[in-house]
Amino acid sequence: MPNQPNRAMPPDRAGRVLAQVEAAREEIVAFTAELIRVPTVNPPGEAYRDCAELIGRRLRAAGLDVQYVEAEGLPEHTAEHPRVNVVGRGGGTGVRKRIHLNGHFDVVPPGQGWTVDPFGGAVRDGRIYGRGASDMKSGIAAAIFAVESIRRAGVDLEGAVDISGTVDEESGGFAGVAHLCRTGLISARNTDYAIIPEPFGPDRVCVGHRGVYWFDVVARGRTAHGSMPHLGRSAIDDMGVVLEAFRTGLAPALASRCSALPVVPEASRRPSLNVNAVVGGQADEVVQSPCVADRCTATFDRRFIPEESFDDVKEEVERLVARVEAEDPGRRLTVADRMVVHPVQAPPGSPLVTALSNAVRTIRGRDPALVASPGTYDQKHFARIGGIRHCVAYGPGELSLAHQADESCDVDDLVACTQVLALAVLELAGFGDDPVRG
Ligand SMILES: [Zn+2]
Repeated sequence: MPNQPNRAMPPDRAGRVLAQVEAAREEIVAFTAELIRVPTVNPPGEAYRDCAELIGRRLRAAGLDVQYVEAEGLPEHTAEHPRVNVVGRGGGTGVRKRIHLNGHFDVVPPGQGWTVDPFGGAVRDGRIYGRGASDMKSGIAAAIFAVESIRRAGVDLEGAVDISGTVDEESGGFAGVAHLCRTGLISARNTDYAIIPEPFGPDRVCVGHRGVYWFDVVARGRTAHGSMPHLGRSAIDDMGVVLEAFRTGLAPALASRCSALPVVPEASRRPSLNVNAVVGGQADEVVQSPCVADRCTATFDRRFIPEESFDDVKEEVERLVARVEAEDPGRRLTVADRMVVHPVQAPPGSPLVTALSNAVRTIRGRDPALVASPGTYDQKHFARIGGIRHCVAYGPGELSLAHQADESCDVDDLVACTQVLALAVLELAGFGDDPVRG
């Protein structure tokens, strides 16, 4: 039953809010386009202040208390590329729940192959185009207009909604959501539920993501003249043995494991291992001299599932590398950690998932698919630093278009997701006496 208000909530109020979203269709599209036109490319982190202020003005217009938060003390926060986040606080009586809607406004570089201006925000055949159209400037517009439509409908929430626009999600989120969590601006003390409108589309709620372990394996050899390699020891040859050992000794074990977490695509329910980079020998690509490579580094990207403990994941790697090293007395290998992100998952049966599911059923006429992400996003910081376990992703756009040329978002999906977010907020925050109908 599309566009019928949720049965659990007074239909007049929900109906008025949904009508306000529909009436704001052009404004939502225009604001998304405005966001796309600010080229917040990361790296290096361009135009963050402009975009934060654009969002801040909207948040203020939606009745929120706006604060700009710079990532003071972090090395990536520089005079040339300041890391500026924006947080809007809703009012509320404090009796009911506080909800935080968060979107990152950084985008990856446009890359090649565009047939439209990546920073033009063109609208054509019911789709809006540009870098960030899916990931995730449409999501930020949806979050803001969900709250603005509740205000325009004259509904007073008992709880409150905070909205933030944050930086650097594409590079780990440390100056963005992690910074807001670390400074206590987002924490379990001031937030009961968090929704991140990442582009999972109108029919999917993302309840969590797999873990990440990035590590380097470094092989050290001995240099010699390239015409007499037997006088040295090639670190690249040693790395070749390491790579083969991972391929034959670890990959089959990973393929035999499977998570209960509903990761999509299905193949990503299994843990995985990717070699992100191999760097060895001489760095210069043009001029070469005949030398045996005395150093080679491979960077591995191991994705793990909640059923694997990080300690086991790390030990499995170290054991394998130690075995390869022991096979040859001259071989010297070390393992160095780069980054660890633990898997996260909203608690099963979370009221947040229930509210979003009810809203999807109302607007889309079907149950949402509950999915999990093969990669990570800012949910990790909400959960791990902020201590907010009730956090999910739900928003417009298509993951398959994220980071691609001609990235776009369907306008109907954008409006539908805005309606779903509005209904979910109504259910979670609750509402006072109806000033319109009494
Ligand atoms: Zn994103």
